[in-house]
Amino acid sequence: MAFEGLASKLQETLKKLKGKGKLSEKDIKEAMREVKLALLEADVNYKIVKDFVKKVSEKCLGNEVLESLTPGQQVIKIVNEELTDLMGKTESEIKYSSSGLTIIMLVGLQGAGKTTMAGKLALQMRKRNKKPLLVACDIYRPAAIKQLQVVGKSIEVPVFTMGDKVSPVDIAKASIEHAKGNGNNVLIVDTAGRLHIDENLMGELSNIKDSINPDEILLVVDSMTGQDAVNVAESFNNQLDISGVILTKLDGDTRGGAALSIKAITGKPIKFVGIGEKMNEIEVFHPDRMASRILG
Ligand code: GDP
Repeated sequence: MAFEGLASKLQETLKKLKGKGKLSEKDIKEAMREVKLALLEADVNYKIVKDFVKKVSEKCLGNEVLESLTPGQQVIKIVNEELTDLMGKTESEIKYSSSGLTIIMLVGLQGAGKTTMAGKLALQMRKRNKKPLLVACDIYRPAAIKQLQVVGKSIEVPVFTMGDKVSPVDIAKASIEHAKGNGNNVLIVDTAGRLHIDENLMGELSNIKDSINPDEILLVVDSMTGQDAVNVAESFNNQLDISGVILTKLDGDTRGGAALSIKAITGKPIKFVGIGEKMNEIEVFHPDRMASRILG
């Protein structure tokens, strides 16, 4: 299960505090040392861990906690609040355009789960009576267009493609006209990924962005890649000024580093998570629920 190691370590540390009547400064410092180690082992960015522990320590060493009758509970409450804060406080939904056509561009490295996520988002929107259109802009990976068509068929959402001989910018532009002509009110543009970030990829994504002016640019990242996911998010954000992040594969045994670091590093919220390969395995990301899940 995701976050297992982190959750069990934090819960163990905090349980020890709860068992004590009064807490001394030494108890709290010792606990904070353990919290720090647990976060580092979960692959959370070092600077974020340092800031987090500093903030939590300052709050825990305040008189309200030391003099409280239930100091252990207070510490847990503070850790919960700060974890929630770290992941973005509240959930962030899709920003729909008031113009009648909402354009969502999905970007990310190959294998992150873009195509799958395009389908999941489309299905969710179709269930809410929107009329999504999936757009196949990955013309490089031989099976990519077919994969999107299979996804579209399985969820009864149309797919716009012009094959692999037309440039992604032209496909994206043409899809807007197609959507307008066919009563679609959400475009979900699936773009190409590479195994690593490279200039060609970024250049192409920038060109697509400039030509269709998306309401949302959502970066899809594989939560299993930990610190790498954070580096990827930072590069994509620097190049494209993304509007949010989608974390996939949270059903795996990710240690949690990506989920806990991305908001702090990029300033951009995690909007959805993928929790399986099936089309309905998507959830809105709730920072408070995630924090509570980690703390048990
Ligand atoms: P793309 O290259 O970014 O378009 O990635 P794909 O959508 O093709 O996904 C790559 C692989 O990850 C596929 O085998 C998907 O079934 C799988 N996948 C995508 N999202 C999830 C998820 O949330 N959980 C799990 N377990 N697998 C996922």
